[in-house]
Amino acid sequence: MNRISDTLYSAFYPRLPILGQNWACTVGGWIRFRQRFSRHFRRTLEDWERSVKWSDERLREVQRERLGQLVARARQHVPYYRDLAPPSEKSDPEEAIREMLEAIPPLEKRAYRDQPEAFISRLIPRARLHAGQTSGTTGTALPLWYSPETLAEEYATVWRMRRRLGADIRDPQLSFNGQIIVPFAQTRPPFWRTNHYTRQTLFSIYHMTPANLKLYVDTVHATPSRYVQGYPSSIHLVARSLLEEDRRLPRGHIAGIFTSSESLLAFQRETIEEAFGAPVLDRYGVSEFAVSMTECDAHRLHVDMEYCIVEVETTEETDDYETGSLLITSLAHDATPLFRYRIGDVGTRAKHPCPCGRAGDNFLEVDGRIEDYVLTPDGRLVGRMDHVFKEQLDVAEAQILQNDSGALMVLIVPRSDYSDASGRRIVRQIRSRLGEEIEVHIELVSSIPREPNGKFRAVKSSVGRNAP
Ligand SMILES: [Zn+2]
Repeated sequence: MNRISDTLYSAFYPRLPILGQNWACTVGGWIRFRQRFSRHFRRTLEDWERSVKWSDERLREVQRERLGQLVARARQHVPYYRDLAPPSEKSDPEEAIREMLEAIPPLEKRAYRDQPEAFISRLIPRARLHAGQTSGTTGTALPLWYSPETLAEEYATVWRMRRRLGADIRDPQLSFNGQIIVPFAQTRPPFWRTNHYTRQTLFSIYHMTPANLKLYVDTVHATPSRYVQGYPSSIHLVARSLLEEDRRLPRGHIAGIFTSSESLLAFQRETIEEAFGAPVLDRYGVSEFAVSMTECDAHRLHVDMEYCIVEVETTEETDDYETGSLLITSLAHDATPLFRYRIGDVGTRAKHPCPCGRAGDNFLEVDGRIEDYVLTPDGRLVGRMDHVFKEQLDVAEAQILQNDSGALMVLIVPRSDYSDASGRRIVRQIRSRLGEEIEVHIELVSSIPREPNGKFRAVKSSVGRNAP
């Protein structure tokens, strides 16, 4: 269903007049609102705004309970997990959780990719499931199914954090996300669209030239807003222009800026907070609905304990913290449960409680989402190019390299069903974000080298900016 509407969308949307595009954004906003903010959402949010104050012991008890239920259902109804051991009967919640998890080998993305249908729970009627796909962090696409309840609980973690700063779901907002809401070829403003249903102004992140950014600044000032959300790299560009024009927003005008999807870099936070006159809170989540960490006032990322369990495969350790690959287990993902899923990100978990007083696990940082910007021949900086591969199920792995602003090299590790048409689709996706002028070379390779720290980078541009 999502696929069909995506295709329809990309065929018709760019040809609509601006009013029609605003109307399409409004309908899209209405659909998203209905899906996310269900009765289950409201109930969960209310419960979790209480449990956020609970002790470590009580939160582990919640985790044990939910994990036990998930294991019990998975071994009965999920083909891949048919041989799972029954839930632990140990009385100590922490020991019970450990016993259940240790019995399950970590899940690699490969294993999920090879037979995703084997992960679908037969307990939930197929008609109730939403279908989607994700780019993950390694440039590979995965098909994905989730229940309305999972989506509601994901948004309960998001809104528990946002409401703490005084933003609410009906508040007007400015958003800076990756959807192409303004066709690339458009050179005249407006470079934003309006979803009237939730009073959301959606800014294009693909039109940010120095000249256009002045218009973004005007619009940020002229549009009612209570909060800002989106990619830190894009919000940072607008924040820098607000400061350059000496037009920062008065303190208190905005409740908060909520970033996600990329690593929030320290200089970005500083500039954004100064320009918008409000605190930035970051969130670490993935489109697999498998993990959520939300930032507190002490700038740590707290695991949303009711929603997921995060393990660290420790490679570096001191008395204060441990660093390593993350294994994530969603407690909310009942449609395609993933136990101990190796997401490909690295995190540093504190060994001591957070000074803010919130119990449960807390992380000093999660790395693995640092993206470079790509620079277009006409001077636009564009982030999140890994989205190009989001729907390319015939691509095993991909990386975009750029050494001058006139050209891109795309390395592709093809899967068996890759064809010339796949290559043309990728070029089309790139052109819709970067225009017709840039040269695009595709090179098929058998593997893509990792960084010295072992991590994969979807985009590496020596001319794009990844510095203040
Ligand atoms: Zn904290």
